[in-house]
Amino acid sequence: MRLNADAVIVGGGIIGVAAAFYLAREKFGNIVLLEKETFLGSGSTSKAAGGIRAQFTTKINIQMSMLSEKVFCRFKEETGFDALYDRCGYMFLLAEDRDIEEFKKSYELQKSLGLPVELLQPDDIRKFVPIIKTDDIKLATFCKDDGIGDPSEFLTGYEKAARKMGVEINIESELTGITVKDGKITGVKTNKGDISCPLVINCSGAWSKNIGRMVGADVRVEPIRRQCVTTGELDFIDPRFPMTVDVKSGLYTHKESKGLLLGWADKDVKPSFDISIDPDYTDNILERALDRIPRLETAEIANQWAGLYETTPDHRAIIGWEKAVEGLFHITGFSGHGFMHAPAAGMVTADILTGREPRIDITDLSPERFSSGVFTEETNVI
Ligand SMILES: Cc1cc2nc3c(=O)[nH]c(=O)nc-3n(C[C@H](O)[C@H](O)[C@H](O)COP(=O)(O)OP(=O)(O)OC[C@H]3O[C@@H](n4cnc5c(N)ncnc54)[C@H](O)[C@@H]3O)c2cc1C
Repeated sequence: MRLNADAVIVGGGIIGVAAAFYLAREKFGNIVLLEKETFLGSGSTSKAAGGIRAQFTTKINIQMSMLSEKVFCRFKEETGFDALYDRCGYMFLLAEDRDIEEFKKSYELQKSLGLPVELLQPDDIRKFVPIIKTDDIKLATFCKDDGIGDPSEFLTGYEKAARKMGVEINIESELTGITVKDGKITGVKTNKGDISCPLVINCSGAWSKNIGRMVGADVRVEPIRRQCVTTGELDFIDPRFPMTVDVKSGLYTHKESKGLLLGWADKDVKPSFDISIDPDYTDNILERALDRIPRLETAEIANQWAGLYETTPDHRAIIGWEKAVEGLFHITGFSGHGFMHAPAAGMVTADILTGREPRIDITDLSPERFSSGVFTEETNVI
């Protein structure tokens, strides 16, 4: 491991490797990435469902997704490595008038930003996804540019490209302390030795609070358990089946290895690092899935897992400089959208750290918005 670096990135999930790639591409200097576990992506990234969508309620999240979607489409040209983005679209099914009103507002905002989002009437929905029970569905929003991708393929692409450009990536390497002199970062301590460096980039996802505590900073990220289930092979899934979200029940589902992936966000889960599988949680997912797709009655469970959403109070990421100390930059708190926002997060970070105006105005993502109390909540969170 290097003894000195221009930047130390903490965390080898999709955000850390994307940041490493975009900084290296800008020839930022010597970059060291630390991942405490035995493989990259072992945190939330390997647990992600792979959804990529720009249908959000806040301008910044729509812009982050639109920028990222462009990169997912041309990933090979960007990095030299293949990763598949299946642009099967994302459909939000709406049964309740209150939701329709909210989604129509977001639809207008999304259109104004250039997103090709459409409104689908019940007849269109039935024709598009006949396996879905639609008797209570009044409207859907659909965006053809949204879709699904495999987080590990994108992570590996960024990792290989970053390594090729000289980034030093260390697994089983845990950041254990940050050294500060006269209010400025001078280095880090790890289980493998010390590195002197003026800049630490916090990409530690659900563990971000721990990194903040090392310098007396309060990073407003909480770990929240989320679960997914996959079914065995199903013979009734159309290859065009879009990522589908049942807004009333919170169920989301998409194609996965000839079957379906099913997920649901239990809003009552309290913050903790517990990622054991809760059978009640699984039952709740299956119950919602059977209500919406009755043909799943004979489906078998192929796999299930739990992972952590790295959640902020307004469900939007934190990207920016920490005020408590000089030299700490956060890229964290994506609140369940970190895979889909990784390319944009890496790019705007490289813009800022190389002294350019960020290509998207990320003022809304500043770390200090929570202490000032001025922030807008992203409400389309699943
Ligand atoms: C069930 C589930 C479904 C999801 N579905 C989607 C989806 O469809 N679309 C989407 O965009 N997002 C989804 N997400 C969210 C997505 O997984 C995260 O937003 C994203 O992976 C965050 O990436 P990250 O790199 O910030 O965090 P992580 O992948 O968690 O990486 C952080 C890394 O930091 C390491 N680390 C922590 N502390 C230290 C330390 N002291 N020293 C060294 N290393 C350290 C950790 O070991 C970890 O590997 C889902 C999440 C879950 C749990």
